[in-house]
Amino acid sequence: MNNQSNLFSDRIANVPKSFIREILALIQNDDIISFAGGLPNPAFFPVEEFRQASNKVLIDCNTDALQYSITEGYLPLREHIAKRYKEKQGLDISPKDILITSGSQQGIDLLAKILINQGDGVLIENPTYLAAIQSFFVYQPEFFPVELENDGPNIEEIEKILETKNIKAFYSIPNFQNPTGVTYSNEKRRKIAELLRKHNVLLLVDDPYGDIRFEGDVPESFKDLYAENTVLMGSFSKTISPGCRLGWIVARPDIYEKLYIAKQASDLHTNYLTQRIVSQFLDDHNLDEHIGKITEFYGKQKDAMLSAIRTYLPDFVESTLPEGGMFIWLTLREDMDAMKLFKAAIEEDVAFVPGEPFFVDNKKKNTMRMNFSNVPEEKIVEGVKRLARAFEKVGYNK
Ligand code: PMP
Repeated sequence: MNNQSNLFSDRIANVPKSFIREILALIQNDDIISFAGGLPNPAFFPVEEFRQASNKVLIDCNTDALQYSITEGYLPLREHIAKRYKEKQGLDISPKDILITSGSQQGIDLLAKILINQGDGVLIENPTYLAAIQSFFVYQPEFFPVELENDGPNIEEIEKILETKNIKAFYSIPNFQNPTGVTYSNEKRRKIAELLRKHNVLLLVDDPYGDIRFEGDVPESFKDLYAENTVLMGSFSKTISPGCRLGWIVARPDIYEKLYIAKQASDLHTNYLTQRIVSQFLDDHNLDEHIGKITEFYGKQKDAMLSAIRTYLPDFVESTLPEGGMFIWLTLREDMDAMKLFKAAIEEDVAFVPGEPFFVDNKKKNTMRMNFSNVPEEKIVEGVKRLARAFEKVGYNK
């Protein structure tokens, strides 16, 4: 008997690969100007501050920082996070409700693991974050995608799905969404909270970009509007460093307890040394000042990209107008295919991500994601000019 004929579990067998990672692998060429990645700009990584913080941690605490630690995460770090929720959003969050995770990506995975049985209904934005689709996919839910409009998801679609289907959770990215850059309006937030309350549906809020705001006011938090059933996820990836792999979940006690068990089973606890270093960094530095520099810079990059798009790309190209985050979403004419444009763009040494893989359903082939955080301003303009040549090449210029 061949014991390896069915080697892989049903759970993993059909999970799609990350299309973006495959694209990134394709474009390891220095001549390419890449709007494809989703990387924070390394110019803002606090290298010197980390050197000092690491020294302090290793000198002051000696061996302790290298020991195993508790599953919940380092308490002073959780206190920093709770304090920021109070200062930035007026939310009263107790450090005991915060679980430190290995990036918010692990947060998504742990939530999917504790909540989803095969066939359970999960509401998602269409399009949405690719690696969240991947994470959920492993647990074999039934996805119910809802069209994402410029001010948030289509409310009538949510209402219809909640009325007719059994939905366990809504996975939502309400601020500067990946891939579109869209932020939900307060009006839609209130309507969504009302609908979810009516049907007693859990809301999973993924918010890694919320702090990267260049303009506009901080919107109402779902944690205020729908406190009883909202789980928050956060991350230091976009504000401090993605390599630290530090994120968190805020959850009410019954959910926290299950997350705690799942986290233990998965990795016992998040890297303790990094938690200590980031906590020390937060003790010694003003994170808002640091974020201020990032947002000022990204805001200019976003303006440069939007203005280059208006100047060099055909008039029919529609773009979102993000107030923060790292992405702009472009929509071409309905008969156009961004994948075809992508091939021409690579020949012109410029890259972006075609929108198709971000959709679970009703895939809009005429969409594309543009990242502006990690390309210098002059290159943004040059990259968009190259893109304009790719439009011409495939006859999409008229
Ligand atoms: N959620 C969204 C919407 C993201 O865009 C990302 C990163 N690209 C993540 C979660 C994961 O971030 P991390 O694990 O680095 O916190």
